[in-house]
Amino acid sequence: MLKGSCCCGAVRFLVSSAPTMMGTCHCSRCRKVGASTFVFVKRSSFELISGADSITTFTPEAPYKYNRCFCSQCGTALGEVTSTADSFPVAANCIDGALTITNLFHEFVKEKPSWYDICDSAQQFPEHPHQ
Ligand SMILES: [Zn+2]
Ligand SMILES: [Zn+2]
Repeated sequence: MLKGSCCCGAVRFLVSSAPTMMGTCHCSRCRKVGASTFVFVKRSSFELISGADSITTFTPEAPYKYNRCFCSQCGTALGEVTSTADSFPVAANCIDGALTITNLFHEFVKEKPSWYDICDSAQQFPEHPHQ
């Protein structure tokens, strides 16, 4: 069982089965919200235990389609924790416990700022891996 939380502790959640994948997005949007590295969790294994009232969802304008949830008290980027999808990304920074998975890929590397060096050997994609 993994625990997750925001910086101020208002938002807390549990993840009962290990996240299936970790990825890092270097797109300009993830850079802004400070949530570039994420893990995918299954809806059935995710349980929000506090802070539902503190979660605010930002919906970007097209062509961006991903909702970004954050704590309205401390601003911590949470990922897509209000998603109804079977599997959704959660900001890896919110996971309090140790993860056994490591970063699998880097996406939108073409938008990566020049001041950030990729220091692992994970596969790199210029845009989304599925395009
Ligand atoms: Zn918070
Ligand atoms: Zn991104």
